[in-house]
Amino acid sequence: MNLDDLPLRDDLRGMQPYGAPQLDVPVRLNTNENSYPLPEPVVSAVEKALGEVLRDLNRYPDRDAVALRADLAAYLGHGLSAENLWAANGSNEVQQQLLQAFGGPGRSALGFTPSYSMHPLLALSAGTRWIDGARAADFSIDVPAAIAQLDQHRPDVVFLCSPNNPTGTALDPAVTRAVLDAAPGMVVVDEAYAEFARPGTLSALELLDAYPRLVVTRTMSKAFAFAGARVGYLAAHPAVVDALQLVRLPYHLSALTQAAARAALRHADATLATVEAIKQQRDRIVRRLPELGLTVADSDANFVLFGGFDDQRALWRALLERGVLVRDVGLTGWLRVTAGTPEETSAFLDAAAAVLREETS
Ligand SMILES: *Cc1c(COP(=O)(O)O)cnc(C)c1O
Repeated sequence: MNLDDLPLRDDLRGMQPYGAPQLDVPVRLNTNENSYPLPEPVVSAVEKALGEVLRDLNRYPDRDAVALRADLAAYLGHGLSAENLWAANGSNEVQQQLLQAFGGPGRSALGFTPSYSMHPLLALSAGTRWIDGARAADFSIDVPAAIAQLDQHRPDVVFLCSPNNPTGTALDPAVTRAVLDAAPGMVVVDEAYAEFARPGTLSALELLDAYPRLVVTRTMSKAFAFAGARVGYLAAHPAVVDALQLVRLPYHLSALTQAAARAALRHADATLATVEAIKQQRDRIVRRLPELGLTVADSDANFVLFGGFDDQRALWRALLERGVLVRDVGLTGWLRVTAGTPEETSAFLDAAAAVLREETS
């Protein structure tokens, strides 16, 4: 028996599971993780925190993760408190819960492509019709075009992503505001890479007071070097948090996860120091690739989208043969590379230079 013989939902038939290849190569720059491990003091603090909750694992965790939500609110600032925060196993789960609460059968969600490819998949799994919104040729979102698309489709949920994955560029706040003014339903701004933004970049957190249907999602997977722990969260009006309580599984966030996240947040300064190092490597990639004749998109994230070649699959394979794994995000003529440690970044830049030299010789 195989999958086709099962009475699977019609809309899931023929689908492939999502996921970048997890290949064992020397330089892995394909999933935008923080290339640095957790700093030692953070490891010790997490270890100690986990030890303290082990004795209570016979009990269910705090269902509402109130202490963690208060810590996350303190980290974000902007006058937020625990009632504005919600946390789950990665921002993917937070967004899934948002779609369960505000999408669902008979409803629709719209995002501006190319953007995070999980948004349409989460919509599908929640039975929500997905609408591919369009961007300008330079990947920016044109305000009149965005408003026209919202007026045409009237989506129940709109996804924005700032800095946008895979293009790397943060959204102009005027665009966010225009979408919030025109959208008939919820607007989710995915800020997974907010900590990597260039100075002066505004967060949609600034707009929460003015827009009660705005939700800003964040994650500890990137800046906090905590991808393996699975901790994502959102900030929104407390009524949004009430809505998510209707769809979340009881006890969805384990006591281990809550304790580990709180310990990591207490040591945020140590971990966030790696963000500065990564931003330097990101800027180095943005400077260097044009010298090799390539095109880059401005990046406020820990990755860079680069183009200027015809066949992204051939370049992806040639880099892999040199031990460097980057991401083919399915955009013809473009690839995405994560900014790594200085050594990883050098390995990528050297491999790219060597491949391009070979091509032109
Ligand atoms: C990596 C990433 C996330 C993170 O998802 P988690 O479930 O929190 O690990 C969310 N949104 C975008 C755009 C991302 O690139």
